[in-house]
Amino acid sequence: MKVTRRQFLKISSGVIGTVVATEAASWGLDTIGMEKQAVKVPIKTGRQVPSVCPYCSVGCGTIVMVNDAGKIIDIQGNPDSPISEGTLCPKGAATYQLVMNDLRWTKVKYRAPGSDHWEDKPLDWAMDRIAQLVKKTRDENFNEYEEVADIRGKKSRQRVMNTYAIASLGGATISNEWNYAQQKLMHGLGVVSVENQARI
Ligand code: SF4
Repeated sequence: MKVTRRQFLKISSGVIGTVVATEAASWGLDTIGMEKQAVKVPIKTGRQVPSVCPYCSVGCGTIVMVNDAGKIIDIQGNPDSPISEGTLCPKGAATYQLVMNDLRWTKVKYRAPGSDHWEDKPLDWAMDRIAQLVKKTRDENFNEYEEVADIRGKKSRQRVMNTYAIASLGGATISNEWNYAQQKLMHGLGVVSVENQARI
């Protein structure tokens, strides 16, 4: 009998599901109640658009469900992906909420120096302020030359073109492309301390 990739995954997930359910029952969890609850969750179907999770370089495959109006209604793992075979980590499984989220903040929370409260500010205002402060800080703290020691400890004056006054720390929802652009921008500015959470 020829078994397709989708059929194989379905059979495999059934076996794994049975093992997990047995283990969960041994912990005293109500697996029957969980199963009943799971079948109540509606499966959203629509036009299926293959895509890739944006969060890290693992590059798990996703299927983006789109309704007739072109609106995203769900994002699921793609069983045809040779990388992830239908699975997504918790972050990837929540990608839908990155795109569609009525609770998303659309303003920036700003707390002025010395202030005891936060203010809502427009994003454009915050972007301008960040750009101005980065420029000012870099101009005031740029190192064209620095005394650098070689492996024998011998010091010499080297051209370094950097600044230690700015650091960049990325968050978990920053995509691969954003991280790439961020690295290029920061290194172009001479920023040495660049870090992010994503697995790149
Ligand atoms: S964040 Fe998770 S789901 Fe997304 S590509 Fe990385 S491992 Fe895969």
